[in-house]
Amino acid sequence: MKEFSVAQKQRLSELNADEEMIGRSFEDVKEREKAFKLLEKELIEANKDALFALRDGSRRPIQLEIESALVRWLTEEEGFTQVVTPIMIPRDMLAKMTIGEDHPLFEQVFWVDNKKCLRPMLAPNLYDEMRSLQKIWGNPVRIFEVGPCFRKESQGARHLNEFTMLNCVELGGVKEGEQMAKLKEMAVHAMAALGIDDYELVGDDSVVYGSEQTLDVLVDGMEVASGAYGPHFLDDQWGIFDPWVGFGFGIERLAMMKKKYRNIKRVGRSLKYLNGARLNI
Ligand code: ATP
Ligand code: MG
Repeated sequence: MKEFSVAQKQRLSELNADEEMIGRSFEDVKEREKAFKLLEKELIEANKDALFALRDGSRRPIQLEIESALVRWLTEEEGFTQVVTPIMIPRDMLAKMTIGEDHPLFEQVFWVDNKKCLRPMLAPNLYDEMRSLQKIWGNPVRIFEVGPCFRKESQGARHLNEFTMLNCVELGGVKEGEQMAKLKEMAVHAMAALGIDDYELVGDDSVVYGSEQTLDVLVDGMEVASGAYGPHFLDDQWGIFDPWVGFGFGIERLAMMKKKYRNIKRVGRSLKYLNGARLNI
């Protein structure tokens, strides 16, 4: 029996063939080549159809639809205000998150020069911004940001070097002792807003926030969002003293799960894919 060659498997995978198609085997090479040609042609057509459907339909890629659904939920139903902060952040901001040279995340940081890096997370900016706003608005402060984050990852099917995080935080609205219940409620509402009903909520050890204070949302065993709460040992140096709850959603992870894609690249920033469809066909 003959399987598809490595190059053929690669090509079929790029064209979004599923595991079953890629794993097919054949009596001989001649039969295999015939099947490959046919399958390739069908897949090219399917990718083209998907790109026409985008142009003639929603006109917005799935990851932006996901982002919009969460933004609508937060602004229209939960009373959160959107903020816009720098993507390039000073080294000191990371240090204030205790991300120094001995921290696992430090290795993943992209440096612009020796004082500035591309943010690996939104938390430092949001800590800073919520303290400023608390002085003006009083409690509660409900803010969120959505935008690019950067981490050096050993390229897998679930990690991008540049991805989009939506981070929301509520300061001084939740009572001490009720943070975990509040996080669970937020997770349930977010997933309902996205129309995803098959997910799990699990407590986790976060590299930044330590154990027992985080709640992850998993879809098909993959983390799509992480929640955390305070008072927390990091809060003091940011001038934050009231209880808070926050969630970081991975927009591409959610898009990938929504579409049941196996590779996150299909929904990331890309010149090869648009809305999950292959461009260079
Ligand atoms: P993982 O353990 O899966 O690498 P994490 O726990 O390090 O993720 P968090 O810091 O909790 O990630 O970030 C919040 C969310 O951002 C994650 O739940 C995930 O959905 C998303 N995310 C984190 N890193 C990446 C990445 N490299 N590519 C795409 N999405 C990511
Ligand atoms: Mg996490």
